Amino acid sequence: MEYISTRGSAPSIASKKAIIKGMAEDKGLYVPSAFPFLGPNPFAGIGEDSYATRAVRILESFLPDYTPAELLKACQTAYAENFDAPAIAPVRFLGDGTAILELWHGPTLAFKDMALQLMPHLLSTALQSETERYEVVILVATSGDTGKAALEGFSGASGVRIFVFYPHEGVSTIQRLQMVTQRGRNVGACAVQGNFDDAQTGVKQIFSDPAINGKLAAFNFRLSSANSINWGRLAPQIAYYFTGYDDMVTAGKIQRGQTILICVPTGNFGNILAAYYARLCGLPLSRLICASNQNRILTDFIRTGVYDRRRDFYKTESPSMDILISSNLERLLFELAERQAAIVSAWMEKLASQGWYDIPSNPLGQLQSFFYGGFAGHQDTLLAIREAFEKQGYLMDPHTAVGYSVLQKYREETGDPTPALLASTASPFKFNRAVLEALGRDPSGKDEFNLLEELAAITRQPIPAKLSELKFLSEVHRGVCTKQKMAEVLDQFLGIKGKGHAHLSTERR
Ligand SMILES: *Cc1c(COP(=O)(O)O)cnc(C)c1O
Repeated sequence: MEYISTRGSAPSIASKKAIIKGMAEDKGLYVPSAFPFLGPNPFAGIGEDSYATRAVRILESFLPDYTPAELLKACQTAYAENFDAPAIAPVRFLGDGTAILELWHGPTLAFKDMALQLMPHLLSTALQSETERYEVVILVATSGDTGKAALEGFSGASGVRIFVFYPHEGVSTIQRLQMVTQRGRNVGACAVQGNFDDAQTGVKQIFSDPAINGKLAAFNFRLSSANSINWGRLAPQIAYYFTGYDDMVTAGKIQRGQTILICVPTGNFGNILAAYYARLCGLPLSRLICASNQNRILTDFIRTGVYDRRRDFYKTESPSMDILISSNLERLLFELAERQAAIVSAWMEKLASQGWYDIPSNPLGQLQSFFYGGFAGHQDTLLAIREAFEKQGYLMDPHTAVGYSVLQKYREETGDPTPALLASTASPFKFNRAVLEALGRDPSGKDEFNLLEELAAITRQPIPAKLSELKFLSEVHRGVCTKQKMAEVLDQFLGIKGKGHAHLSTERR
């Protein structure tokens, strides 16, 4: 299997290359040239039954240029004691027939760990196969969750350094503490005066500046990104839909081969795309429920076929889903267009130039036959948290609650009794303010650690150690810079500030 670009004019490459590159040079996204058939029983005959060995089963067909030993080592390192649940992605069952796939037992308490704990190992391994020797510099602009997950995942990875820019005073206290206390010889972070867009624009300028890239190359550095369009982030996400299904069978909730629904709270369309890919590989899924918050652009797209970003942007209590451009949707469009890259390119160009595009009725009908789009606003989200806690004894975070609310609406609207698996994407403790509000408490004026204690007391659940320890860790990345100084800050981090470069170009790092 090779990787081809959704825009059709970049050559096909092997998976290691696709993971190193992130994005194709024709601005397209890499997708598998074909989907392997894995079916409802991919783990048959597996020896040692751990999450790592099950993940290898799924990943080996998508990453065929990695040796089985490389994959096993990467997965066993990624999915180990750094997760606080031995099952890694355990499934819980609610009384109302909903199965919940908990994807947040990793070190940063959100689902991005499922991919970002593994991807650095995949990248380091891929770099070892390169004939040229250079160090990759992962540059991230974050609104909160991705930054920490990337720092944590790449900390200590060989051949890679990572630097994160986040908006000064634009992330939650917990999110900031998680980033500024990150240890590791190869990690750095800095606040940018401005909002997330400023940080993002600054990072994009660094990526596209030939002078900066030339200087970095002279010192044997190459920039790369760890955002969710990288295949190395998507592939690990396919695995847990198979393990979740398998766990439902093992628990006796479904028969093997029986179809289920999957509901995913969605932002950049990465997590739900992985579920769709699992479906293309033969996992018996009837429909995929795409749940949005008030930023309901995907709901509108699935219902009308019109993708229109010319709309207001809302800040919600599920911030990781506050997105108006869902990058990974391009991969779904590629399948809807029957893999005709020219059609995808035309839609994407129209989106870039005019802010919208629409798809014809034929692919739209197909889209609607296997996707359902719904959204939950502020009140619905808080209500879902409260109901799940009071009626089912299950505490969920606001992102998961958006999914739960939309799943309930879907069931009411359609009467569809198919068993459902809901992707739970963050620990409720990570978003304690909104959760406490939903439970009828007044969180105003209290600090984060008081809120954690209050939530622990109400729910009689322990505060996750990764959060309580933040109080005692020292802040090692205290820098704040202006947007104009970002490149300089990066140079400083890499130890090349003020240095010329020509005479150093052969130096090995
Ligand atoms: C990133 C994130 C999402 C959205 O996932 P996508 O793959 O971007 O759709 C949902 N919930 C949480 C907690 C997240 O961090």
